[in-house]
Amino acid sequence: MTPVLMPVYGRSEVAPVRGEGPHLFDADGRRWLDFASGIAVNALGHSHPHLVGAIQRQAALLMHTSNLYTLPGQQRLAERLTALTFADTVFFTNSGAEALEATLKTCLRWLDADGRSEAKVLTFSGAFHGRTLATISATDQPKVRNGFGTVLERFVTVPFDDLAAAEAAVNAGNIGAILVEPIQGESGIRPTSPAFLQGLRRLADDHNLLLAFDEVQSGIGRTGTLFAYEQYGVAPDVMAVGKGVGGGFPLGACLATANAASGMTAGMHGSTYGGNPLAMAAGEAVLDVVAEPAFLAQVRETSAILRGRLETLATEVPGLFLEVRGLGLMLGVKLNGDSRAFVAHARTYGLLTAAAGDNVVRILPPLIIEPQHIEEAIAKLGEAARTFPRAQAAA
Ligand SMILES: *Cc1c(COP(=O)(O)O)cnc(C)c1O
Repeated sequence: MTPVLMPVYGRSEVAPVRGEGPHLFDADGRRWLDFASGIAVNALGHSHPHLVGAIQRQAALLMHTSNLYTLPGQQRLAERLTALTFADTVFFTNSGAEALEATLKTCLRWLDADGRSEAKVLTFSGAFHGRTLATISATDQPKVRNGFGTVLERFVTVPFDDLAAAEAAVNAGNIGAILVEPIQGESGIRPTSPAFLQGLRRLADDHNLLLAFDEVQSGIGRTGTLFAYEQYGVAPDVMAVGKGVGGGFPLGACLATANAASGMTAGMHGSTYGGNPLAMAAGEAVLDVVAEPAFLAQVRETSAILRGRLETLATEVPGLFLEVRGLGLMLGVKLNGDSRAFVAHARTYGLLTAAAGDNVVRILPPLIIEPQHIEEAIAKLGEAARTFPRAQAAA
């Protein structure tokens, strides 16, 4: 029988109906510690009073009009995002993939205006930029590409974090833009080296290319700064934002410099919902909390504690946790074994994490966690690690 929901997800048995801070509860009152945060989305945890209040007030006032009209909330959130970043201008979307689509269109229009309408976008092995037809073309990952053929022929993919390979591709000609995740998320929490990101900036400047960052997963405080690029001392020309930016409300954004966005003139792009008043209220409420320097400092402190505890735990379960990597609260534990099986096993101990490529267990807690939540997570993770069938660990 055809399932009423297309079976495109491997869903677990967990069925939450309510959330509070970093915890989720099902209809029977069963509780989980949520260190996946809806895949780096619930930056403020669940039911954060400031976010809930902002959405409730705005819902009662005005939910949606249209981009045919002036939207004061869009103006305000764009002013705040540009003041906090490299960017001069913003286009709002409803998701990360749409933010990437806007990012790519921004780059292609800039190239078109420069007479380079056939130029390609350089992307990197293991990249994940979303599930639309353009974004699945922007990666070499068979997992997301298989079954769709080559949809868009505008991408060239070279090995990740390999500056020489990027230089060779650019020198081979016809590259017009570079798209990169400063820290790859889906393929296993793989931070770029500073020399790589800085080298890409130099390459872009020397060859008149646009440099685009995908900070859908790494942005909005996740790494301990508002955006990860700040820690690399490199700014992009265009950037895609999503996930945490709405704190759970569907929201994304494409940020760009005035130069990079010069081709995005009237009629070039659009969205029915993108940037509607309700989404803008959510985005503003998240920024109210996350953009505070004291909040970001606390994320960095929390991260140092969590990372230290994970590294200690790794020594206590020899042979299972091979490495702790990442930045801020975007952490990955590389497993000697199947990370999907481990994530499922940890769920039975009341801890939610997220599997990623390279057998990495992603630890993506809400940014609001406190030391006692770290202790709770480490206790559950320790139990799960000690009881994880070693036959699987050796697999
Ligand atoms: C999740 C993600 C996307 C896609 O975002 P959606 O909101 O699922 O469309 C794109 N890029 C990165 C780096 C992501 O982590």
